[in-house]
Amino acid sequence: MALHRVGLYWFSNDLRVTDNPLLAQAANECQQLICLYVLPPEWRQPNRYGLRSLGDQRWRFLQRSLGDLRQQLQARGQQLLVLQQNPLHSLAELISQHGIAVIYYSQHVGYYERRYQQLLRQRYPFIHYNSASTHTLFDPLQLPFKLDELPDNFSKFRRLVEAADLRSQLASAQPPPVALPRTPLNTELVSHNWQQLPAVNHVADHPWQGGSSSAINHVQQYFTSTAPQHYKATRNALDDWPASTKFSAWLADGSLSVRQVLDALAHHEQQFGANDSTYWIWFELLWREYFQWYALAHGKRLFAFTGLKQQGPRTSFYAARFQKWCSGNTPYPIVNACMRQLNQTGYMSNRGRQLVASCLVHELQLDWRYGAAYFEQQLIDYDVAANWGNWQYLAGVGADPRGHRRFDLDKQTRHYDPHGSFIAHWGNSRASAVLDHCDAADWPIDE
Ligand SMILES: Cc1cc2nc3c(=O)[nH]c(=O)nc-3n(C[C@H](O)[C@H](O)[C@H](O)COP(=O)(O)OP(=O)(O)OC[C@H]3O[C@@H](n4cnc5c(N)ncnc54)[C@H](O)[C@@H]3O)c2cc1C
Repeated sequence: MALHRVGLYWFSNDLRVTDNPLLAQAANECQQLICLYVLPPEWRQPNRYGLRSLGDQRWRFLQRSLGDLRQQLQARGQQLLVLQQNPLHSLAELISQHGIAVIYYSQHVGYYERRYQQLLRQRYPFIHYNSASTHTLFDPLQLPFKLDELPDNFSKFRRLVEAADLRSQLASAQPPPVALPRTPLNTELVSHNWQQLPAVNHVADHPWQGGSSSAINHVQQYFTSTAPQHYKATRNALDDWPASTKFSAWLADGSLSVRQVLDALAHHEQQFGANDSTYWIWFELLWREYFQWYALAHGKRLFAFTGLKQQGPRTSFYAARFQKWCSGNTPYPIVNACMRQLNQTGYMSNRGRQLVASCLVHELQLDWRYGAAYFEQQLIDYDVAANWGNWQYLAGVGADPRGHRRFDLDKQTRHYDPHGSFIAHWGNSRASAVLDHCDAADWPIDE
Protein backbone atom coordinates (compact mmCIF):
# COMPACT_ATOMS: atom_id res chain seq x y z
CA MET A 1 0.00 0.00 0.00
CA ALA A 2 1.53 3.35 -1.12
CA LEU A 3 2.19 5.92 1.62
CA HIS A 4 1.49 9.04 -0.42
CA ARG A 5 -1.13 9.85 -3.06
CA VAL A 6 1.04 12.20 -5.18
CA GLY A 7 4.80 12.61 -4.94
CA LEU A 8 7.29 14.68 -6.92
CA TYR A 9 10.83 13.71 -7.85
CA TRP A 10 12.95 16.82 -8.50
CA PHE A 11 15.93 15.82 -10.67
CA SER A 12 19.06 17.99 -10.66
CA ASN A 13 22.57 16.50 -10.76
CA ASP A 14 21.26 12.93 -10.58
CA LEU A 15 19.99 12.35 -14.14
CA ARG A 16 19.72 8.57 -13.93
CA VAL A 17 17.39 5.75 -12.96
CA THR A 18 20.16 3.25 -12.10
CA ASP A 19 21.78 3.58 -8.69
CA ASN A 20 19.22 6.15 -7.67
CA PRO A 21 17.96 4.96 -4.27
CA LEU A 22 15.70 7.99 -3.87
CA LEU A 23 13.85 7.21 -7.08
CA ALA A 24 13.45 3.60 -5.95
CA GLN A 25 12.03 4.92 -2.67
CA ALA A 26 9.59 7.18 -4.53
CA ALA A 27 8.50 4.18 -6.63
CA ASN A 28 7.63 2.29 -3.44
CA GLU A 29 5.97 5.12 -1.57
CA CYS A 30 3.77 6.98 -4.10
CA GLN A 31 0.54 6.16 -5.92
CA GLN A 32 1.31 8.83 -8.51
CA LEU A 33 4.60 10.56 -9.26
CA ILE A 34 5.69 13.69 -11.12
CA CYS A 35 9.25 13.63 -12.48
CA LEU A 36 10.55 17.17 -12.88
CA TYR A 37 13.70 18.89 -14.13
CA VAL A 38 13.91 22.69 -13.92
CA LEU A 39 16.38 24.81 -15.81
CA PRO A 40 16.66 28.20 -14.09
CA PRO A 41 16.60 30.86 -16.89
CA GLU A 42 19.50 32.74 -15.26
CA TRP A 43 21.84 29.90 -16.25
CA ARG A 44 21.65 31.05 -19.88
CA GLN A 45 21.83 34.77 -19.10
CA PRO A 46 24.94 36.90 -18.37
CA ASN A 47 26.06 36.57 -14.75
CA ARG A 48 28.14 38.97 -12.61
CA TYR A 49 31.21 38.10 -14.71
CA GLY A 50 29.41 38.90 -17.96
CA LEU A 51 29.42 35.18 -18.81
CA ARG A 52 26.75 32.50 -18.85
CA SER A 53 26.67 29.71 -16.28
CA LEU A 54 25.58 27.25 -18.93
CA GLY A 55 27.38 27.61 -22.25
CA ASP A 56 26.39 25.92 -25.53
CA GLN A 57 28.63 22.87 -25.21
CA ARG A 58 27.24 21.82 -21.83
CA TRP A 59 23.70 22.75 -22.80
CA ARG A 60 24.03 20.35 -25.74
CA PHE A 61 25.38 17.62 -23.47
CA LEU A 62 22.67 18.27 -20.87
CA GLN A 63 19.90 18.05 -23.45
CA ARG A 64 21.19 14.63 -24.45
CA SER A 65 21.28 13.55 -20.80
CA LEU A 66 17.72 14.76 -20.29
CA GLY A 67 16.63 13.00 -23.49
CA ASP A 68 18.15 9.75 -22.29
CA LEU A 69 16.55 10.11 -18.85
CA ARG A 70 13.20 10.82 -20.51
CA GLN A 71 13.44 7.56 -22.47
CA GLN A 72 14.42 5.59 -19.36
CA LEU A 73 11.45 7.03 -17.49
CA GLN A 74 9.07 6.38 -20.38
CA ALA A 75 10.19 2.74 -20.49
CA ARG A 76 8.97 2.55 -16.85
CA GLY A 77 5.62 4.21 -17.51
CA GLN A 78 6.70 7.73 -16.52
CA GLN A 79 7.24 11.15 -18.14
CA LEU A 80 9.87 13.83 -17.61
CA LEU A 81 8.55 17.36 -17.27
CA VAL A 82 11.26 19.89 -18.20
CA LEU A 83 10.56 23.51 -17.33
CA GLN A 84 12.59 26.67 -17.86
CA GLN A 85 11.57 28.77 -14.92
CA ASN A 86 12.59 29.74 -11.44
CA PRO A 87 12.41 26.31 -9.70
CA LEU A 88 10.34 27.76 -6.85
CA HIS A 89 7.69 29.01 -9.29
CA SER A 90 7.52 25.64 -11.05
CA LEU A 91 7.23 23.80 -7.78
CA ALA A 92 4.62 26.21 -6.38
CA GLU A 93 2.37 25.59 -9.38
CA LEU A 94 2.73 21.84 -9.27
CA ILE A 95 2.17 21.72 -5.51
CA SER A 96 -1.07 23.67 -5.74
CA GLN A 97 -2.36 21.90 -8.87
CA HIS A 98 -1.67 18.34 -7.76
CA GLY A 99 -1.71 18.42 -3.96
CA ILE A 100 1.80 17.05 -3.69
CA ALA A 101 2.44 15.35 -0.37
CA VAL A 102 6.08 14.40 -0.70
CA ILE A 103 9.14 15.70 -2.61
CA TYR A 104 12.31 13.72 -3.31
CA TYR A 105 15.58 15.43 -4.27
CA SER A 106 19.31 14.78 -4.33
CA GLN A 107 21.20 16.90 -1.80
CA HIS A 108 23.29 19.47 -3.62
CA VAL A 109 26.59 20.77 -2.26
CA GLY A 110 26.41 24.08 -4.19
CA TYR A 111 25.44 27.08 -2.08
CA TYR A 112 22.91 28.55 -4.54
CA GLU A 113 21.34 25.22 -5.46
CA ARG A 114 20.93 24.42 -1.76
CA ARG A 115 19.28 27.77 -1.21
CA TYR A 116 16.46 26.79 -3.57
CA GLN A 117 16.04 23.54 -1.64
CA GLN A 118 16.02 25.36 1.72
CA LEU A 119 13.52 27.98 0.52
CA LEU A 120 11.24 25.23 -0.71
CA ARG A 121 11.25 23.56 2.70
CA GLN A 122 10.59 26.88 4.43
CA ARG A 123 7.68 27.80 2.16
CA TYR A 124 6.01 24.40 2.28
CA PRO A 125 6.66 22.99 5.75
CA PHE A 126 3.56 20.76 5.49
CA ILE A 127 5.15 18.71 2.69
CA HIS A 128 7.21 15.64 3.50
CA TYR A 129 10.80 15.77 2.12
CA ASN A 130 13.17 12.92 1.32
CA SER A 131 16.67 13.79 0.26
CA ALA A 132 19.94 11.91 0.06
CA SER A 133 23.52 12.47 -0.97
CA THR A 134 23.40 10.74 -4.34
CA HIS A 135 26.17 12.81 -5.99
CA THR A 136 28.88 11.73 -3.58
CA LEU A 137 30.52 8.47 -2.72
CA PHE A 138 29.86 8.65 1.00
CA ASP A 139 26.93 9.65 3.08
CA PRO A 140 27.71 12.53 5.50
CA LEU A 141 27.14 10.13 8.43
CA GLN A 142 29.82 7.78 7.10
CA LEU A 143 32.54 10.45 7.12
CA PRO A 144 35.12 9.89 9.86
CA PHE A 145 34.80 13.56 10.99
CA LYS A 146 32.09 16.16 11.41
CA LEU A 147 31.62 18.44 8.42
CA ASP A 148 32.82 21.50 10.35
CA GLU A 149 36.00 19.56 11.08
CA LEU A 150 36.70 18.79 7.40
CA PRO A 151 40.50 18.51 7.01
CA ASP A 152 42.02 21.65 5.51
CA ASN A 153 43.81 19.68 2.82
CA PHE A 154 43.27 16.64 0.65
CA SER A 155 46.10 14.49 2.08
CA LYS A 156 44.65 14.63 5.59
CA PHE A 157 41.20 13.83 4.21
CA ARG A 158 42.47 10.83 2.24
CA ARG A 159 44.40 9.46 5.22
CA LEU A 160 41.29 9.60 7.42
CA VAL A 161 39.08 7.97 4.77
CA GLU A 162 41.60 5.23 4.15
CA ALA A 163 42.28 4.62 7.85
CA ALA A 164 38.53 4.12 8.35
CA ASP A 165 38.56 1.72 5.37
CA LEU A 166 35.47 3.36 3.92
CA ARG A 167 36.06 1.88 0.46
CA SER A 168 35.39 -1.67 1.63
CA GLN A 169 32.15 -0.52 3.33
CA LEU A 170 30.62 0.98 0.20
CA ALA A 171 27.44 -0.63 -1.06
CA SER A 172 27.25 -1.62 -4.74
CA ALA A 173 25.26 0.42 -7.23
CA GLN A 174 21.53 -0.36 -7.15
CA PRO A 175 19.60 -1.60 -10.20
CA PRO A 176 16.90 0.71 -11.61
CA PRO A 177 13.27 0.33 -10.50
CA VAL A 178 11.38 -2.00 -12.88
CA ALA A 179 8.32 0.26 -12.99
CA LEU A 180 7.39 3.68 -11.67
CA PRO A 181 4.04 5.03 -10.43
CA ARG A 182 2.02 6.72 -13.16
CA THR A 183 2.08 10.49 -13.65
CA PRO A 184 -0.94 12.72 -12.92
CA LEU A 185 0.27 15.13 -15.67
CA ASN A 186 -1.26 15.55 -19.08
CA THR A 187 1.25 13.77 -21.32
CA GLU A 188 0.57 16.07 -24.28
CA LEU A 189 1.50 19.04 -22.14
CA VAL A 190 4.70 17.30 -21.06
CA SER A 191 5.67 16.62 -24.71
CA HIS A 192 4.80 20.19 -25.64
CA ASN A 193 7.14 21.50 -22.93
CA TRP A 194 9.87 19.22 -24.18
CA GLN A 195 9.51 20.61 -27.70
CA GLN A 196 9.78 24.16 -26.36
CA LEU A 197 13.39 23.64 -25.30
CA PRO A 198 15.68 25.86 -27.39
CA ALA A 199 17.24 23.84 -30.19
CA VAL A 200 20.95 23.10 -30.15
CA ASN A 201 22.90 21.56 -32.98
CA HIS A 202 23.95 18.07 -32.02
CA VAL A 203 27.43 17.14 -33.12
CA ALA A 204 27.19 13.49 -34.15
CA ASP A 205 30.88 12.66 -33.81
CA HIS A 206 31.51 14.58 -30.60
CA PRO A 207 33.28 12.10 -28.31
CA TRP A 208 31.05 13.01 -25.38
CA GLN A 209 27.36 12.34 -25.82
CA GLY A 210 25.23 13.03 -22.77
CA GLY A 211 23.06 10.46 -21.04
CA SER A 212 23.39 7.38 -18.90
CA SER A 213 23.33 4.96 -21.87
CA SER A 214 26.47 6.56 -23.39
CA ALA A 215 28.01 6.76 -19.92
CA ILE A 216 27.53 3.04 -19.26
CA ASN A 217 28.90 2.14 -22.71
CA HIS A 218 31.94 4.29 -22.12
CA VAL A 219 32.60 2.88 -18.63
CA GLN A 220 32.36 -0.67 -20.03
CA GLN A 221 34.70 0.10 -22.92
CA TYR A 222 37.21 1.80 -20.68
CA PHE A 223 37.35 -0.96 -18.08
CA THR A 224 37.47 -3.81 -20.57
CA SER A 225 40.52 -2.18 -22.17
CA THR A 226 44.00 -2.17 -20.65
CA ALA A 227 44.00 1.64 -20.32
CA PRO A 228 43.29 1.57 -16.54
CA GLN A 229 46.44 -0.52 -16.05
CA HIS A 230 48.55 2.47 -17.19
CA TYR A 231 46.37 5.31 -15.94
CA LYS A 232 48.89 6.72 -13.46
CA ALA A 233 51.54 7.15 -16.13
CA THR A 234 49.22 8.52 -18.82
CA ARG A 235 46.65 10.63 -16.96
CA ASN A 236 48.52 13.92 -17.42
CA ALA A 237 48.59 13.72 -21.22
CA LEU A 238 47.18 16.81 -22.86
CA ASP A 239 45.24 15.23 -25.68
CA ASP A 240 44.93 11.49 -25.79
CA TRP A 241 41.44 10.00 -25.32
CA PRO A 242 42.34 6.80 -23.35
CA ALA A 243 45.01 8.58 -21.27
CA SER A 244 42.46 9.41 -18.58
CA THR A 245 39.02 8.02 -17.82
CA LYS A 246 36.87 10.83 -19.35
CA PHE A 247 34.10 10.07 -16.83
CA SER A 248 33.85 13.65 -15.57
CA ALA A 249 30.99 15.02 -17.69
CA TRP A 250 28.64 12.13 -16.87
CA LEU A 251 29.63 12.23 -13.20
CA ALA A 252 28.94 15.97 -13.15
CA ASP A 253 25.33 15.79 -14.33
CA GLY A 254 24.76 12.52 -12.50
CA SER A 255 23.91 10.40 -15.53
CA LEU A 256 26.62 8.20 -14.02
CA SER A 257 27.08 7.58 -10.31
CA VAL A 258 30.47 7.36 -8.71
CA ARG A 259 29.45 3.99 -7.22
CA GLN A 260 28.84 2.65 -10.73
CA VAL A 261 32.41 3.65 -11.58
CA LEU A 262 33.78 1.97 -8.46
CA ASP A 263 31.88 -1.27 -9.18
CA ALA A 264 33.38 -1.34 -12.68
CA LEU A 265 36.83 -0.56 -11.26
CA ALA A 266 36.55 -3.45 -8.77
CA HIS A 267 35.48 -5.77 -11.58
CA HIS A 268 38.43 -4.65 -13.70
CA GLU A 269 40.82 -5.26 -10.79
CA GLN A 270 39.45 -8.81 -10.39
CA GLN A 271 39.93 -9.52 -14.09
CA PHE A 272 43.21 -7.75 -14.88
CA GLY A 273 44.72 -7.27 -11.44
CA ALA A 274 45.04 -4.25 -9.18
CA ASN A 275 48.12 -2.04 -9.44
CA ASP A 276 49.27 1.52 -8.73
CA SER A 277 47.32 2.80 -11.71
CA THR A 278 43.99 1.25 -10.77
CA TYR A 279 44.53 2.57 -7.23
CA TRP A 280 45.10 6.03 -8.74
CA ILE A 281 41.63 6.07 -10.28
CA TRP A 282 40.23 5.64 -6.77
CA PHE A 283 42.66 8.33 -5.59
CA GLU A 284 41.34 10.83 -8.16
CA LEU A 285 37.76 10.00 -7.27
CA LEU A 286 38.69 10.84 -3.69
CA TRP A 287 39.83 14.29 -4.88
CA ARG A 288 36.39 14.69 -6.38
CA GLU A 289 34.85 13.58 -3.08
CA TYR A 290 37.02 15.97 -1.06
CA PHE A 291 35.91 18.95 -3.13
CA GLN A 292 32.25 17.98 -2.72
CA TRP A 293 32.49 18.14 1.07
CA TYR A 294 34.71 21.21 0.83
CA ALA A 295 31.98 23.05 -1.11
CA LEU A 296 29.35 22.01 1.40
CA ALA A 297 31.50 23.00 4.39
CA HIS A 298 32.52 26.42 3.03
CA GLY A 299 29.25 27.52 1.40
CA LYS A 300 29.45 30.97 -0.15
CA ARG A 301 33.19 31.28 0.51
CA LEU A 302 33.76 28.93 -2.42
CA PHE A 303 33.13 31.96 -4.63
CA ALA A 304 34.95 34.59 -2.52
CA PHE A 305 38.06 36.28 -3.92
CA THR A 306 39.96 35.61 -0.66
CA GLY A 307 38.63 32.05 -0.50
CA LEU A 308 39.44 30.57 2.89
CA LYS A 309 42.30 33.02 3.51
CA GLN A 310 42.45 36.49 4.99
CA GLN A 311 43.99 37.96 1.85
CA GLY A 312 43.46 37.34 -1.84
CA PRO A 313 46.22 37.11 -4.45
CA ARG A 314 47.68 40.36 -5.81
CA THR A 315 45.65 40.31 -8.96
CA SER A 316 43.09 42.48 -10.63
CA PHE A 317 40.96 42.56 -13.75
CA TYR A 318 42.30 43.59 -17.17
CA ALA A 319 39.65 43.18 -19.83
CA ALA A 320 42.05 42.83 -22.78
CA ARG A 321 44.18 40.19 -21.06
CA PHE A 322 41.13 38.23 -20.05
CA GLN A 323 39.81 38.30 -23.62
CA LYS A 324 43.16 37.01 -24.88
CA TRP A 325 43.22 34.23 -22.34
CA CYS A 326 39.65 33.17 -23.20
CA SER A 327 40.26 33.09 -26.93
CA GLY A 328 43.69 31.46 -26.72
CA ASN A 329 45.71 34.47 -27.82
CA THR A 330 48.24 34.96 -25.04
CA PRO A 331 52.05 35.01 -25.37
CA TYR A 332 52.05 31.34 -24.21
CA PRO A 333 51.48 28.78 -27.01
CA ILE A 334 50.69 25.92 -24.61
CA VAL A 335 47.99 28.00 -22.92
CA ASN A 336 46.57 29.05 -26.28
CA ALA A 337 46.32 25.45 -27.48
CA CYS A 338 44.58 24.35 -24.25
CA MET A 339 42.09 27.22 -24.40
CA ARG A 340 41.28 26.51 -28.04
CA GLN A 341 40.76 22.85 -27.21
CA LEU A 342 38.35 23.93 -24.45
CA ASN A 343 36.50 26.32 -26.74
CA GLN A 344 36.07 23.73 -29.48
CA THR A 345 35.29 20.62 -27.41
CA GLY A 346 34.15 21.72 -23.93
CA TYR A 347 36.97 19.64 -22.43
CA MET A 348 40.54 20.21 -21.29
CA SER A 349 42.87 17.73 -19.57
CA ASN A 350 43.62 18.14 -15.89
CA ARG A 351 47.20 19.21 -16.64
CA GLY A 352 45.92 21.74 -19.18
CA ARG A 353 43.52 23.17 -16.59
CA GLN A 354 46.38 23.58 -14.12
CA LEU A 355 48.56 25.35 -16.69
CA VAL A 356 45.93 27.80 -17.93
CA ALA A 357 44.82 28.58 -14.36
CA SER A 358 48.41 29.21 -13.27
CA CYS A 359 48.89 31.45 -16.32
CA LEU A 360 45.75 33.46 -15.55
CA VAL A 361 46.72 34.10 -11.94
CA HIS A 362 50.51 34.37 -12.10
CA GLU A 363 51.44 35.52 -15.60
CA LEU A 364 48.39 37.60 -16.48
CA GLN A 365 47.69 38.59 -12.86
CA LEU A 366 43.98 38.31 -13.32
CA ASP A 367 41.32 37.77 -10.66
CA TRP A 368 40.96 33.95 -10.50
CA ARG A 369 37.16 34.12 -10.26
CA TYR A 370 36.94 35.26 -13.89
CA GLY A 371 38.87 32.15 -14.92
CA ALA A 372 36.57 29.96 -12.84
CA ALA A 373 33.50 31.66 -14.33
CA TYR A 374 34.81 31.12 -17.86
CA PHE A 375 35.38 27.43 -17.11
CA GLU A 376 31.86 27.26 -15.69
CA GLN A 377 30.52 28.53 -18.99
CA GLN A 378 32.69 26.38 -21.26
CA LEU A 379 33.24 23.01 -19.56
CA ILE A 380 30.91 20.15 -20.37
CA ASP A 381 31.96 18.54 -17.08
CA TYR A 382 31.38 21.69 -15.00
CA ASP A 383 30.79 20.74 -11.40
CA VAL A 384 30.43 23.57 -8.90
CA ALA A 385 32.57 21.90 -6.22
CA ALA A 386 35.35 20.58 -8.48
CA ASN A 387 35.63 23.76 -10.49
CA TRP A 388 35.61 26.45 -7.83
CA GLY A 389 37.54 24.23 -5.38
CA ASN A 390 40.33 23.58 -7.89
CA TRP A 391 40.49 27.24 -8.88
CA GLN A 392 40.80 28.30 -5.24
CA TYR A 393 43.52 25.73 -4.79
CA LEU A 394 45.51 27.03 -7.77
CA ALA A 395 44.98 30.67 -6.84
CA GLY A 396 46.48 29.95 -3.41
CA VAL A 397 43.33 30.76 -1.45
CA GLY A 398 41.98 27.26 -0.94
CA ALA A 399 42.96 23.81 0.24
CA ASP A 400 46.60 23.87 -0.82
CA PRO A 401 49.00 23.66 2.14
CA ARG A 402 51.74 25.23 -0.05
CA GLY A 403 49.45 28.14 -0.80
CA HIS A 404 51.07 28.94 -4.16
CA ARG A 405 51.29 26.93 -7.39
CA ARG A 406 53.07 28.62 -10.25
CA PHE A 407 53.84 26.38 -13.20
CA ASP A 408 56.87 27.08 -15.37
CA LEU A 409 55.09 27.13 -18.73
CA ASP A 410 58.23 26.60 -20.84
CA LYS A 411 59.29 23.61 -18.78
CA GLN A 412 55.78 22.17 -18.84
CA THR A 413 55.65 22.60 -22.63
CA ARG A 414 58.94 20.73 -23.07
CA HIS A 415 57.68 17.96 -20.82
CA TYR A 416 54.10 17.50 -22.02
CA ASP A 417 54.39 18.57 -25.65
CA PRO A 418 58.01 17.75 -26.51
CA HIS A 419 57.39 17.58 -30.28
CA GLY A 420 54.95 20.48 -30.39
CA SER A 421 52.19 18.27 -31.79
CA PHE A 422 49.54 19.39 -29.29
CA ILE A 423 50.25 23.04 -30.04
CA ALA A 424 50.31 22.37 -33.78
CA HIS A 425 47.00 20.51 -33.59
CA TRP A 426 45.03 23.11 -31.67
CA GLY A 427 46.59 26.01 -33.51
CA ASN A 428 47.97 29.44 -32.93
CA SER A 429 51.55 28.68 -32.05
CA ARG A 430 52.24 32.26 -33.18
CA ALA A 431 51.53 33.63 -29.77
CA SER A 432 50.68 37.28 -29.42
CA ALA A 433 53.66 38.99 -27.80
CA VAL A 434 51.67 41.99 -26.66
CA LEU A 435 49.46 41.58 -23.62
CA ASP A 436 47.95 44.98 -23.11
CA HIS A 437 47.68 47.52 -25.83
CA CYS A 438 46.48 51.03 -25.68
CA ASP A 439 45.61 53.17 -28.66
CA ALA A 440 47.38 56.55 -28.81
CA ALA A 441 43.94 58.13 -28.97
CA ASP A 442 43.21 56.74 -25.50
CA TRP A 443 46.00 58.70 -23.83
CA PRO A 444 45.02 61.89 -22.02
CA ILE A 445 46.28 64.93 -23.89
CA ASP A 446 48.66 67.13 -21.99
CA GLU A 447 47.40 70.61 -22.91
C1 LIG B 1 41.17 24.71 -12.60
C2 LIG B 1 40.48 23.37 -12.62
C3 LIG B 1 39.10 23.30 -12.81
C4 LIG B 1 38.45 22.04 -12.81
N1 LIG B 1 37.09 21.99 -13.01
C5 LIG B 1 36.45 20.80 -12.96
C6 LIG B 1 35.04 20.71 -13.13
O1 LIG B 1 34.33 21.70 -13.28
N2 LIG B 1 34.48 19.46 -13.13
C7 LIG B 1 35.21 18.33 -12.94
O2 LIG B 1 34.66 17.23 -12.95
N3 LIG B 1 36.54 18.39 -12.74
C8 LIG B 1 37.18 19.57 -12.76
N4 LIG B 1 38.54 19.62 -12.58
C9 LIG B 1 39.26 18.38 -12.23
C10 LIG B 1 39.85 17.59 -13.40
O3 LIG B 1 40.60 18.42 -14.22
C11 LIG B 1 38.80 16.87 -14.24
O4 LIG B 1 37.93 16.14 -13.39
C12 LIG B 1 39.44 15.89 -15.20
O5 LIG B 1 40.36 16.54 -16.03
C13 LIG B 1 38.37 15.22 -16.04
O6 LIG B 1 38.93 14.30 -16.94
P1 LIG B 1 38.82 12.74 -16.65
O7 LIG B 1 37.41 12.37 -16.37
O8 LIG B 1 39.50 12.03 -17.74
O9 LIG B 1 39.64 12.63 -15.30
P2 LIG B 1 40.51 11.44 -14.66
O10 LIG B 1 41.92 11.88 -14.55
O11 LIG B 1 40.29 10.18 -15.37
O12 LIG B 1 39.94 11.36 -13.17
C14 LIG B 1 38.85 10.48 -12.82
C15 LIG B 1 37.76 11.28 -12.17
O13 LIG B 1 38.23 11.80 -10.93
C16 LIG B 1 37.70 13.10 -10.71
N5 LIG B 1 38.82 14.06 -10.63
C17 LIG B 1 40.05 13.94 -11.16
N6 LIG B 1 40.83 14.98 -10.82
C18 LIG B 1 40.07 15.77 -10.05
C19 LIG B 1 40.30 17.00 -9.37
N7 LIG B 1 41.47 17.66 -9.41
N8 LIG B 1 39.27 17.56 -8.70
C20 LIG B 1 38.07 16.98 -8.64
N9 LIG B 1 37.80 15.80 -9.24
C21 LIG B 1 38.78 15.21 -9.92
C22 LIG B 1 36.80 13.42 -11.91
O14 LIG B 1 35.47 13.08 -11.55
C23 LIG B 1 37.32 12.49 -12.99
O15 LIG B 1 36.36 12.14 -13.94
C24 LIG B 1 39.21 20.87 -12.60
C25 LIG B 1 40.60 20.95 -12.41
C26 LIG B 1 41.22 22.18 -12.44
C27 LIG B 1 42.71 22.24 -12.25
